[in-house]
Amino acid sequence: MDCIFCQIIAGKVPTEIVYQDEEVIVFPDINPKAPIHLLIVPKKHIPSLAHLSEAESPLIARMVNVANRLAKDEGIAERGYRLVVNCGEEGGQLVPHLHMHFLGGRRLQVHW
Ligand code: AMP
Ligand code: ZN
Repeated sequence: MDCIFCQIIAGKVPTEIVYQDEEVIVFPDINPKAPIHLLIVPKKHIPSLAHLSEAESPLIARMVNVANRLAKDEGIAERGYRLVVNCGEEGGQLVPHLHMHFLGGRRLQVHW
């Protein structure tokens, strides 16, 4: 098991667990790009959005619901936040385990 996020999910790499349920875990990004930068990660190892089966697609709705919950908990539901999913090499994906970046706490710029 050489997937860093699977190692975090298995408790083999310590992190601050911000939220978890049966299907999803949330922990801080190690290299934060905003005052609030969390990673919303399915516990199942799915390499990327491109590998998500139709049957697995409800997981995305679940991750978005977790994002809304985080926004409330972090007190930024009204101010706003950004969700980013990088997919594949040209999409800028570095860790090959599906995840959403949850970014907030400052006015974000468009950067692509
Ligand atoms: P992506 O480019 O979308 O694959 O983003 C991967 C993200 O994972 C980057 O923002 C990294 O800073 C973050 N990351 C890599 N290793 C860890 C780790 N051990 N704990 C928390 N975040 C990590
Ligand atoms: Zn994994």
